[in-house]
Amino acid sequence: MTHRFTGRTTLVTGGGSGIGRGIALAFAAEGANVVVAGRRQEPLDETVALIEAAGGKALAVTADVTRADDVRALVDAAVDRFGSLDVAVNNAGVLEAAGTPVADVPEDAWRRMLDINVTGVLLALQAEVRQMRTQPGGGAIVNIASRIGVHGRIPGTTAYGATKAAVSVLTRGAALDHIADGVRINAVSPGATATPMSLQPGETEAGRAERMRTAVPLGRVSTVEETAAAVLYLASDDAASVVGTDLVVDGGSTA
Ligand code: NAP
Repeated sequence: MTHRFTGRTTLVTGGGSGIGRGIALAFAAEGANVVVAGRRQEPLDETVALIEAAGGKALAVTADVTRADDVRALVDAAVDRFGSLDVAVNNAGVLEAAGTPVADVPEDAWRRMLDINVTGVLLALQAEVRQMRTQPGGGAIVNIASRIGVHGRIPGTTAYGATKAAVSVLTRGAALDHIADGVRINAVSPGATATPMSLQPGETEAGRAERMRTAVPLGRVSTVEETAAAVLYLASDDAASVVGTDLVVDGGSTA
């Protein structure tokens, strides 16, 4: 096992579940001090307990990424506890109105996705960059977009895909704006990953596996660990010259 993040502070939004928890555990396994954030305390505490049981250090902070005050307080809490903010993963996101054609997407669902998936990433990026650019070592940020934002060709997920396309564009532009500040910004665009978000309404995991056999060239969903590995690569010194990219981890769906 390599330890690319020993002593580095890593913040993961949406770190209480799914891909975010997998990312948090993977950073902790490589020596990072991990701060997990989300709106609900209990799942965050579970992630912290898993990290601590494996001998790592972690902190749970409740925060709503749509609130600038919350996100600023979150970054401050990370720095107060561990002394710096070296890596941030903006993973919090929601998929609503799945299966709904564009004309029928409820306005409130559209606004919630815009607020969490786009405004939430922007506010987090702002607070993170403002901290990282004051540090001698700068920092690295990875935003979680989606392969649906890459081509938008999955019927019933266009509104969600539009918010994720915005994350990709935000990533490229912010990367150029802030590389001179010592902050490297990239994105990972997962395809269908093994969390409840990739289940269709009423679908079982076995049903999803059957659907993925033909829907994905690789023949299966990506694991949370495979997606996390891409995030850790982009956040690591191995990717020191990778700036503003969007790394697609989707079993070939967009190839
Ligand atoms: P998930 O388990 O539902 O995780 C989403 C996390 O975001 C939750 O922990 C949730 O915690 C947090 N969150 C939601 N709204 C928030 C807010 N306003 N403020 C702070 N935290 C908030 O889903 P997942 O599958 O792991 O997805 C993680 C990310 O990957 C999302 O951005 C998703 O769009 C993206 N993605 C997933 C897939 C997939 O197939 N699973 C594919 C492509 C992209 P609280 O509810 O406690 O706030």
